[in-house]
Amino acid sequence: MQLCVKLHNMQYISRRDFMQKGMTLAAAGVIPSILPFSSETTLSKEVTMNGIQVGAVSFVDEGVEKVLDILQKKGAVNTIFLTTFTYGRGLAGRQIPGHPFPDHGSQQSDEKTFRGGNYATPHPAFYRNTILKETRATEHGNLDIVSAVLPAAKKRRIKVFCSVEDQWRSDVPGVKECTEVDLLGRRTNTLCLYHPDVRAFWTALVTDLCSSYPIDGILFFNERNAPLLNALGASHFQTIDSSRATCFCEHHQKAAKERGISFDRAKEGYRALDQYVQASLKDQRPSDGYYVEFNRILLKYPEIIAWDQLFDLGKHQVLEEVYRTVKGINKKLQVGFHIEHVNSFNPIFRATRSYEDLAEKADFLKVVAYNNCGGERYANFIRNIGSTVYRDLPREELMRFNNNLLNYGNEAPLDQLATAGLSSDYVLRETQRAVAGVKEKCKILPGIDIGIPTGKNSRKASPEDTYKATQAAYQGGAHGVILSRKYSEMNLVNLEAAGRAIIEAGK
Ligand SMILES: [Zn+2]
Repeated sequence: MQLCVKLHNMQYISRRDFMQKGMTLAAAGVIPSILPFSSETTLSKEVTMNGIQVGAVSFVDEGVEKVLDILQKKGAVNTIFLTTFTYGRGLAGRQIPGHPFPDHGSQQSDEKTFRGGNYATPHPAFYRNTILKETRATEHGNLDIVSAVLPAAKKRRIKVFCSVEDQWRSDVPGVKECTEVDLLGRRTNTLCLYHPDVRAFWTALVTDLCSSYPIDGILFFNERNAPLLNALGASHFQTIDSSRATCFCEHHQKAAKERGISFDRAKEGYRALDQYVQASLKDQRPSDGYYVEFNRILLKYPEIIAWDQLFDLGKHQVLEEVYRTVKGINKKLQVGFHIEHVNSFNPIFRATRSYEDLAEKADFLKVVAYNNCGGERYANFIRNIGSTVYRDLPREELMRFNNNLLNYGNEAPLDQLATAGLSSDYVLRETQRAVAGVKEKCKILPGIDIGIPTGKNSRKASPEDTYKATQAAYQGGAHGVILSRKYSEMNLVNLEAAGRAIIEAGK
């Protein structure tokens, strides 16, 4: 039943609408000819969502019509994921400092002016139940990016989703009261997902956006990770600082108590883990070796895993609340979740994420399959886990072992990974895995890497690389793609190459 509704909602335009409006719009060249239209008799033939992530600054710098024109003509895009809430630079702002600007937009750094926040207009009535009330982004004055882009996009029959990301800055009013507490009792810059004000904020924000604007839905980003992964630094982007594992705040304690998990034992376990990690980094090998010692700690303190799962539970609770809230406003609105890159690299993290379970609370999953920057990121991941749990293994061997666990194909050796990037075959395999995993319960839109900044000597994707990566997603059975991370870091030749693959996939 639910599937039927979803299928029906995915229809981009009905035959009647098409006959009434579509013909004239198509004739006028407003609708790109690649848009396949569904009809009442072919519900299974759904429209591919060919999307791109774009932030407010690009529309400010280059003009709304001009940007939409480029996205439509070069990128063959029919959906935009408009960065509406974040304090992070991955989705908002111009090119991040220290990297070359792409071949469009302003060539001036916004390092000093960038602030982030809500790029739409927060309507105070929605935020009564949360302390996090003053989030309006200020760098573009009174501009409301959703109001500015939505009518122009609708005219072109481009769908608009608001991208919303769990990224904050410490000087936002209310943030200090909601922050997580680490193993040593220090307040952090991240917000606790069990804090009632934080949970209330996310539902308030999506309620505001979905009630105040005729958007097509929400794409929710939350790349925050649970304490076990944090303690080990078992990711691609972090340095290893095991004492900063979170969260041990009063709200977490309360949630743990309700589930019969001992706060004291969990804390003791993470302290033991911290000592183990610190000793490993100093090359102090346990007499039974690094791998055995790690497992011994886990066996002694099952609360380590329980505390890890508690974090995930909090995170998924928020996803569920977002989904339920949006559907409560309008069933036709679509909700998607961004699934972070570590889900691809880390087999243990993979075990904590069931695509089928996630599909229960989403209309689509944006599965990160960034292959170009993936090379340097995966190499970092291998080096990180090779510094602790797998320290006894030669790194190259560890990578080959991990490749097999992850079903990666013939990728470059570790010392060449950053300069080689991951292949388009990687995109294909990750797409296939996700499509198989969700068992047709939701759609899979792989995130395609276009110009995500990499280190000086790391690979920069050629247009041909981008073309192949985009093509691989469709070959893997994707229901569309999301060109990532933001238009303001993409070169137009690469965008055009992705567009070529999108057009070919639509034929
Ligand atoms: Zn907490």
